[in-house]
Amino acid sequence: MKIKSLDTWIEGGNNNFIIISGPCGAETRSQILNTADQISQVKGVHLFRAGVWKPRTRPGGFEGVGKKALSWLKEAKEKYGLKVAVEVARSQHVEECLKAGIDVLWIGARTTSNPFSVQEVADALQGVDIPVLIKNPLNPDLNLWIGAIERVYRTGNNKIAAVHRGFFPFRKTRFRNDPKWEIVIELKSRFHNLPIICDPSHITGDSRLLNEISQKSLDLNMNGLMIESHCTPELALCDGKQQITPTQLGTLLLNLTHRVETAHDTNFKELLGQYRIQIDEIDTQVIKLFAQRRELALKIGKEKQKRNVSILQLKRWKKMRQSRLELAREFGLSEKFMDKILQLIHKESISIQSPN
Ligand code: PEP
Ligand code: MN
Repeated sequence: MKIKSLDTWIEGGNNNFIIISGPCGAETRSQILNTADQISQVKGVHLFRAGVWKPRTRPGGFEGVGKKALSWLKEAKEKYGLKVAVEVARSQHVEECLKAGIDVLWIGARTTSNPFSVQEVADALQGVDIPVLIKNPLNPDLNLWIGAIERVYRTGNNKIAAVHRGFFPFRKTRFRNDPKWEIVIELKSRFHNLPIICDPSHITGDSRLLNEISQKSLDLNMNGLMIESHCTPELALCDGKQQITPTQLGTLLLNLTHRVETAHDTNFKELLGQYRIQIDEIDTQVIKLFAQRRELALKIGKEKQKRNVSILQLKRWKKMRQSRLELAREFGLSEKFMDKILQLIHKESISIQSPN
């Protein structure tokens, strides 16, 4: 894919890096104008965002005010000189946005998850020269994300960026959505010139954690941030907990450390970040495997107890140790190191099987 660098399609986007901010949803004319006014005074913001049609997981919530918000955005754009971005999920959304002179469109996570919807949006974009941001799908399926990017790219559009907003978590974590950085890194390594913008608001779901995730994305050389802001976050009709005021945004941006841009240093940091993520992933797997092993040891213990069989089975232990050491050798691991680990594992297994 031949994607244009961000600097060429976002005015003022330097070093292939941009900041997008604005409310989760457009609620009222005064909320839009007030927030846009304040955002225009924050140094370093390139694009004002607002959801006009809000896809809600369940019906009954605030679903956006629709088309009429486009005129508020137009007004904000004229008054404060901001470029504006809106989420589209249907061909009709695209048409309305183009009519209203919206500068950038984005495809939301729920839409990316559905190829029919992405294709509908792509068909409406055929031959249209407008930047499109594509959020990752809700589920951690890299191909689904790539598929959506390709559908837009095939319309002849090369002003494309991916937006990383995290993935639906299957167990409760500190974050609203699981960042799964390894997926973003894989996307980056497959499409070197595809800009990737991080959305810490939807990853964290919590305004207090925005700093941490924003910095992490900068450390991984992401190409920008999309951060939700609202003139009065506590009154927001959607995603209130994760929105910050434009003043807070200004402080957050000032506190971020942009990594030194010497070629050598950038590559080094990027590589280090990638390796560490892989190491974290491996350690997670190791811990999960230990947990599975523990479950099995417990089962064995119960069976032994039922039959009054001794816990320590010396012959089995010797055989096991021997075979594991051989395997470790094959993989180039130190025997001393492996033996220590095996002994610890065995000791733990014995203690697990022992009735208290
Ligand atoms: C949004 O940006 O407000 C939004 C709905 O995000 P996502 O599609 O990432 O859930
Ligand atoms: Mn939102």
